[in-house]
This record gives sequence, structure tokens and C-alpha cells, in this order.
Amino acid sequence: MASRSCQGNEKATYDEDDWGTVTDLHDIGVLGSGPAALAVASACARRGASVTLVAPEPRSPWLPNYCLWADEVPLELQDLTEQFWPQITAATALGSRTLDRQYVKLDTEALQSHFWDALGAGSVRVVPQSAIRLSHQPSSTIIATDDGAEHQVQVVIDASGARTPFVRRVHSRPPAFQTAYGLLLDAPRHGFDPARMVLMDFRPVSDAAKEPPSFLYVLPLSGGRVFVEETSLARRPAVSMDLLRARLEARLESLGLARATRLAQEHCSIAMGLGLPAPGQSLVPFGAAAGMVHPASGYLMSHILRKAAPVAESILDGLDSGGVDAALAAGNAALWPRAHRRVWEIYGFGLEALVGMSGSETNRFFDSFFKLSPDDCAGFLGGRLSPSRLGGVMTKLFRGLPPSVRWHLVRTGLVGGVAPLARSVLQQGVR
Ligand SMILES: Cc1cc2nc3c(=O)[nH]c(=O)nc-3n(C[C@H](O)[C@H](O)[C@H](O)COP(=O)(O)OP(=O)(O)OC[C@H]3O[C@@H](n4cnc5c(N)ncnc54)[C@H](O)[C@@H]3O)c2cc1C
Repeated sequence: MASRSCQGNEKATYDEDDWGTVTDLHDIGVLGSGPAALAVASACARRGASVTLVAPEPRSPWLPNYCLWADEVPLELQDLTEQFWPQITAATALGSRTLDRQYVKLDTEALQSHFWDALGAGSVRVVPQSAIRLSHQPSSTIIATDDGAEHQVQVVIDASGARTPFVRRVHSRPPAFQTAYGLLLDAPRHGFDPARMVLMDFRPVSDAAKEPPSFLYVLPLSGGRVFVEETSLARRPAVSMDLLRARLEARLESLGLARATRLAQEHCSIAMGLGLPAPGQSLVPFGAAAGMVHPASGYLMSHILRKAAPVAESILDGLDSGGVDAALAAGNAALWPRAHRRVWEIYGFGLEALVGMSGSETNRFFDSFFKLSPDDCAGFLGGRLSPSRLGGVMTKLFRGLPPSVRWHLVRTGLVGGVAPLARSVLQQGVR
């Protein structure tokens, strides 16, 4: 690794203006400055690699309320959680359930600072531009940016989000979209139990709000605040922000919260079911760019936080032992082991089924889903089961569904032309 000498106690070089102290050829070039980019770039920097980080607005603050299950937060990041709830509630038109699984909201600002601090402790060059072209050479890649400059690195990690033009995918099916409109309210008498977040409440506020299905998501926060969000889980094309906003307003009216002071709003649009990266590419994708968004839930943070260090380490070990080709192979293998790709394919089937469900089918589906054992629910939502265990959970779920929803799934599996493996899961369930 030619430029690994730029490490150790050298002065931190992460300021955009501090260009003079940087070596020409860096070990790693990271595209993006979202959670995926900073997590993997800081993991590389911690290992002593020199990093060029290319992003149009590298310092712009992250705004989303990033949440995940408490058991998915890596130990070293546990101080960066802002709030936790010991229980969650999931409600449909058919009933409501409370699950004893802790859910946490990350302190977004603290998380972003944490990654920048780790980057600052290493040798990092920040290029405040968009990457417009990658030219892959036998032992390096040149990143061309929109100011006309070129930056040479050994390995590119593309964490520039779901719209990246640089990643080839195994299929080009258009993504479905999870869309959501949220409001942070100052509402000390909001009426929600502070010990319980509402993961989903599918009960529509009126008959007119039944189709397409959407649900209320609620985070009761400290200081008398509450975050409420109307979410469409997965639709192709996406449910519009205007519709979600109107539904949220109607819910606030019925909850007596329409006049609460509004502190912030959130617009959320997440591409779901992007094709996984095709094998044999001259870069390592990461985060949404790598198709890591959970295809059936839209969650991504836990996968980013869990995978950043192993992917970074595999790339750097590969560079040390066998050069760029070895680094690319090792990085991509650590990112998407074969079993994990199969798991994502099965979830892809689940996504296709969800996208086409009516409001009443969605309610029945989730009513059955939350009757699964806590372990099965957690395993399915977490995305860390083996293919056979996931197949088993889906078969159990299938058997518990009412016939109308079963047939919807069978049609999706047989007509939709999605993962053959998922079809065999369904066939087991039909028997
Ligand atoms: C409002 C909202 C709330 C969410 N909440 C949750 C949640 O609670 N839990 C969860 O698990 N997930 C959540 N997600 C989903 C997911 O975690 C986020 O979308 C996450 O931000 C994706 O991270 P990323 O770094 O892969 O991509 P992004 O955050 O999209 O970052 C992409 C980066 O690449 C940069 N970029 C773009 N083009 C170029 C280019 N040509 N060259 C260089 N850089 C470029 C962008 O400027 C940006 O910095 C949420 C998403 C949204 C939108």
C-alpha cells in the first residue's frame, strides 16, 4: 500500500481547505458523506489508511431521525443514542400488540461528529465536489470531480447513495419507494406512553385513508416533544408527500394535536429493492449504493454500522496482501457473502408482495406477522437470518395468513418472476 506511510501521529488533514499536506495516491477514495460514507471512511482511517472523501456538501448536517433496534447498536456507539424505548407497539385494524424489544433513536448530530472525529485522527483529504467519472486503471482509480480535478486512489468505495451511476446491478427492476412525512411537535400533553414507541399503526383515520395503505409512526421524546410520521411502507410508484401530509394532518386533528407547535419536519424517500451489485466490479459499493437497504422494511443503519469495519478491514488486508484486485475481491465478499445475497433475494420477494397489497391485505398481513414469536419477528426485521431460517419464518408466516393474502403471495411468486427460492418457500407453505 504505497501511501500508507501517511498515518500515525501526523497532523489531522480533514479540513477541506487543508489540501497541501496530502499525498497524491491515496489508499481509499470514498464517494459520499452520508452515514455509509462516514462509517466506512472512518473505519479505514482508524486502520491507518489514507482516505480521499469526495462529496458535494461534506459538512452538511444529517437531518433524519435515525432509529434502530437497541440490540443492533454496536458497543462502541452505545453512547451515541439519544433516546430508547423498552417496548414497541404495532397496531392494525385487527388488533394491537406490544413487543418487549428495545428501540433506540441515535443522536444524529453526535453520530456525525463521532465519525468526523475518527476521520480527523487519520490522514484524510476532503474534496467538496461531486464525482462525475471513475477511470479504473490496473492498480488505481482516478476520480474526476465536477471542478475538473482528478484524484487518484487505489480502491474506490462508492457510498454516494441509491442513485449512484457507478454501480452495476444484477437486475434493473425499478425500485419501490418508502415515503414518509414527519413532524416534530412540542406537545407536552401528547398522550402517548413515553416508554413505548409506535412502530406502525395501520388503523386509517377515515375510510378515505384506506388506500393506498399507510401507517402512523410515533417517537415520544424527552422534553415534551413527540415525532409523528405518516409512512407508506413500499409502493411503486411512490405515494406522494402531499397525500401523506394530508393524512398526518387528519391524524393530528383526531389526536387533538393539530395546534401543537411544529419544531421540524422530515421528508423521507427510500429506494427499496435495488438490484444487488453485480460481481466483478472495479469498486466496492457501500450503504444504499450497495443495495443494503432492507428490502422489506427500509432500514439500513444497523447494516451500515455492523458492516463498515469488516468491509474496511477486508479491503485494507487485501491491499496489503495482494494489491488492488485482492482488495476489491475481499471487500465485495465481506459486503455481500453468498448466503446474505440469497437472504436479500427472499426479502425481495416479500417486497414485491407488499407493493401490490391492498389496505385490508396489508392489515391482515401485519396482524399475522406480529403474531410470530418475538425471535422470529426480530430475526425477520433484522435481516440477519440464514436463508433456511428466513425461509422457515416466511413459511410459518404464510401458514398463519388468511387465504386471500396467501393467494396474493402465491400470485406474486408465480407470476411476478421473482426469486425462485421464494417460490419454493411458498410452495412448502401451501402443502
Ligand atoms: C428521512 C429519512 C429517515 C430515515 N430513517 C431511517 C431510520 O430510522 N433507520 C434506518 O435504518 N434507516 C433510515 N433511513 C434510511 C437510510 O438509513 C438513509 O437513507 C441513509 O441516509 C442512507 O445512507 P447512505 O450513506 O447510504 O446514503 P445517503 O445518506 O443518501 O448519502 C449519499 C451521499 O452521497 C453524496 N453524493 C451523491 N452523489 C454524489 C457524487 N456524484 N459524488 C460524491 N458524492 C455524492 C450525497 O451528497 C450524500 O452525502 C432513513 C432515510 C431517510 C431519507
